[in-house]
Amino acid sequence: MTQLDGRTVIARSLKQQGIEHIFGVVGFPVMELAQTAQREGLQFYGFRNEQAASYAAGAAGYLTGRPGVCMTVCGPGMVHAIAGLSNAWANCWPMLLLSGAPDSYQREQGAFQEAPQMESARPYVKLSTRPDSLARVPAYLEKCVRTAMYGRPGAVYLDLPNDIITGTTEEAALRWPQRCPPAPKSLADPAAVTAALAALRSAQRPLVVVGKGAAYARAETAVRRFIEHTQLPFLASPMGKGVVADDHPLSVAPARSHALQEADVVFLIGARLNWIMHFGTQPRFAANVRIIQLDIAADEIGTNVPTEAALVGDAGAVMGQLNDALDAAPWQYAPANDWWVSLRAKIAENQAQVGVMMQDDRVPMGYYRVMGEIRDHIPRDAIICSEGANTMDIGRSVLLNYAARQRLDAGTFGTMGVGLAFAIAAAVVHPGRRIFCVEGDSAFGFSGMEVETACRYRLPITFVIVNNNGIGVGETELSDPIPPHVYTPSARYDRVIEAFGGKGYFVTTPEALRSALRDAAEQSMPTLINVMINPQATRKPQKFEWLTR
Ligand code: ADP
Ligand code: MG
Repeated sequence: MTQLDGRTVIARSLKQQGIEHIFGVVGFPVMELAQTAQREGLQFYGFRNEQAASYAAGAAGYLTGRPGVCMTVCGPGMVHAIAGLSNAWANCWPMLLLSGAPDSYQREQGAFQEAPQMESARPYVKLSTRPDSLARVPAYLEKCVRTAMYGRPGAVYLDLPNDIITGTTEEAALRWPQRCPPAPKSLADPAAVTAALAALRSAQRPLVVVGKGAAYARAETAVRRFIEHTQLPFLASPMGKGVVADDHPLSVAPARSHALQEADVVFLIGARLNWIMHFGTQPRFAANVRIIQLDIAADEIGTNVPTEAALVGDAGAVMGQLNDALDAAPWQYAPANDWWVSLRAKIAENQAQVGVMMQDDRVPMGYYRVMGEIRDHIPRDAIICSEGANTMDIGRSVLLNYAARQRLDAGTFGTMGVGLAFAIAAAVVHPGRRIFCVEGDSAFGFSGMEVETACRYRLPITFVIVNNNGIGVGETELSDPIPPHVYTPSARYDRVIEAFGGKGYFVTTPEALRSALRDAAEQSMPTLINVMINPQATRKPQKFEWLTR
């Protein structure tokens, strides 16, 4: 009789479920589990803190469509990884957190690093569970993977007591479930398809909003076809950017506020009317705006604003239904009308305003100048990770995405500290692609030590720190008492990466930024460009504050 240990059963189960990468931090009781996983052909990426490892797992889930896996030690390690669970929960990303736990017989005795792990995970996950025996671990892992992917994607937690990890079982007694297939693609009610097209036909000022649900669903071909067939103006949500290229002639991104405010029919494709979309309410939207909503989750329908046509189903499949209906009865939104005239005028006005700021040669630089330089250097297939307040908001409008799933940012949860982890996850799941992580100095600090992780694995990441010496706005010198939002002026973050063999650049002028970006493209190690900007720099004046009351 061949005996298998728990580590091997867990690693083989993950492999069998199509998992290729594990992000984590080792220690009791998962030290040897990570080694076994490597032996079984999985790639293990060791991080410096579980918080970042768990963020990486969520991003890997979003980018690959199968749950990203994070592995942690008991107690504190697992608690740190709740950061990633909550981020995956808010963003609807498939993710699996595996945490070691003390031996079962020690439970409730005050074991080393004992904690209510299953209860801690529960509010953020679709399933929080623990195998009842080693023999059933393969079944539990299949169920975890399936739960994370099917329906609305989300996080899952599996508790792994030391006695399961170190136990043994007869190989012959194990039952291996099939690899969980991709989620079945559900179609919308044909009546809702008819209603959605009728609503669009009746619109005076229609608008399509493309969200990250469309990106996750890999619906880009169908969405692009629909937009081009109908000639409808569209906007992307932050991570919906690139599903249809940002430089597409039908994009009205530079007129975002105007488009949202004046539209009479809004078609949401995998985007929620939450805070990012101002809840779909006044003053950001028209009072009687009519909503067409496409979402995998029926319980999302009607959130905040009643839905006129509810397309519940997979974004790719449902856009296919709409395209089929349009092929049968073609319809196009008339290009020469007042709506397009007003949108084009607003686009021109906003672009002119931003264009001036992007060419401003003054030193210290402002955000727009910095972003303009970066934009001109980023290859079209690069993945852009972005976080920070102004750095992310301005970067979102200036840095362009040309393909789906090429932007990762603070997302629905507004999480700061995700940038380094997302960049590492993107580099791992897309080997060879260039990754740009453009973030504020404060956002960088949350997970700054992960530059060591990036260097250790020699990942092709360029970190650009847009450094204003603090949160929001900074100061040029420290005063007493030190203001809560102020960090060390002119901090040399570029020297941090050099400690680990990467290359750093300290930059204060547009010319120096350009030459650093050029030089960074030649490096085989990660690079970090520390760009000093005017600590008092801000955005262009906004018609509405981001979080309008
Ligand atoms: P954004 O921030 O881009 O608006 P959200 O995360 O708020 O995106 O919304 C994405 C929506 O996409 C969620 O409501 C989620 O249920 C939905 N979604 C996820 N997967 C799919 C899919 N395969 N098809 C359609 N909708 C999906
Ligand atoms: Mg800052």
